[in-house]
Amino acid sequence: MKYQLPDLEPLPGTRIDGRLIIAGPCSAESRTQVITTARALSELGVGVFRAGIWKPRTHPGSFEGFGVDALPWLSMVRRTTGMLIATEVATPAHVAAAMRAEVDILWIGARTAANPFAVQEIADALTVLDRKPAVLVKNPVNPDLELWIGAIRRIYAAGVRRIGAIHRGFSTYGQSLYRNTPHWSIPIELRHRIPGLPVICDPSHITGRADLVPQVAIQATQMGFDGLIIETHPSPCDALSDSAQQITPQQLADLLHKLPPMPDKEASPAANLDELRREIDDVDDELLQILARRMDVARRIGEVKKESGMSIVQTDRYNSLMEARVDAGARLGLSGDFLRKLLATIHEESVKQQLH
Ligand code: PEP
Ligand code: MN
Repeated sequence: MKYQLPDLEPLPGTRIDGRLIIAGPCSAESRTQVITTARALSELGVGVFRAGIWKPRTHPGSFEGFGVDALPWLSMVRRTTGMLIATEVATPAHVAAAMRAEVDILWIGARTAANPFAVQEIADALTVLDRKPAVLVKNPVNPDLELWIGAIRRIYAAGVRRIGAIHRGFSTYGQSLYRNTPHWSIPIELRHRIPGLPVICDPSHITGRADLVPQVAIQATQMGFDGLIIETHPSPCDALSDSAQQITPQQLADLLHKLPPMPDKEASPAANLDELRREIDDVDDELLQILARRMDVARRIGEVKKESGMSIVQTDRYNSLMEARVDAGARLGLSGDFLRKLLATIHEESVKQQLH
């Protein structure tokens, strides 16, 4: 189902070559770190400064941000560089404090976006504001387009008109190239479902690795994302959070030079083919990661068999596995003949891996 959200307004912030670039550290760590980063970014023409001050952390005891104490640092960025300032909010108290400091753009993090109660509480806090900030909604941690759309609709219903979505990838269990695997077809579908909604990409949280940030940023640009949000730190290895994925302002400058032009939005029917091809690339990428994971599990099974003195190939297990997979595949519309060949090849490689 499509959702028409009438009167959506463009996101604020100057554009670089037509795209919105938001940059800044994962977390505001000190007055000096904040202002040094902002000055360097402002010289690059970046119009929006991001910095987390309330950080949702997986484990207790990790650095959870400086909270309200960091708000004056952000205000100083606004005053001295003219950049707009953006931070993450997860509760009504965060919204109130950020609004007191005149934060221009709020974003809802991936963990919060997955929780409709939390999003609704934020929406209620936004409803009562006379002057609404712009709000960016990250995809929920799990690949659920409806949940993402639901969060966006709650923010819209609060009277916010400058809304954008951020694709930051989805949680991945086990071995993966990425910290949070992108599923490009989901944000692309989001654009179709909510016409006119700006969608931007967060290559930092997708990759989790500074060296992979440029390639994902370039890919996102080719796919027609409206902008990028990129974690930038003057000295990434000293960062208090997300150290491995932050790039320096200089690296961001190099990356901005490498970005291809934005594709034509009024694209011809061929654009559809491009989208489908990208979806295939996306699926193949997942397929490779799944195969790598399968081989990893096979090797571990090999160890257990060796320890227990079992033979590597258990014919009964092999036959029942093959039949169960072929049945499951049939329910998904996959031909039995194709699956038998594919599974035999995969099994053969698994046995080889176990012999190592
Ligand atoms: C962040 O942007 O620093 C952040 C915590 O992101 P996410 O919600 O995507 O994990
Ligand atoms: Mn981060």
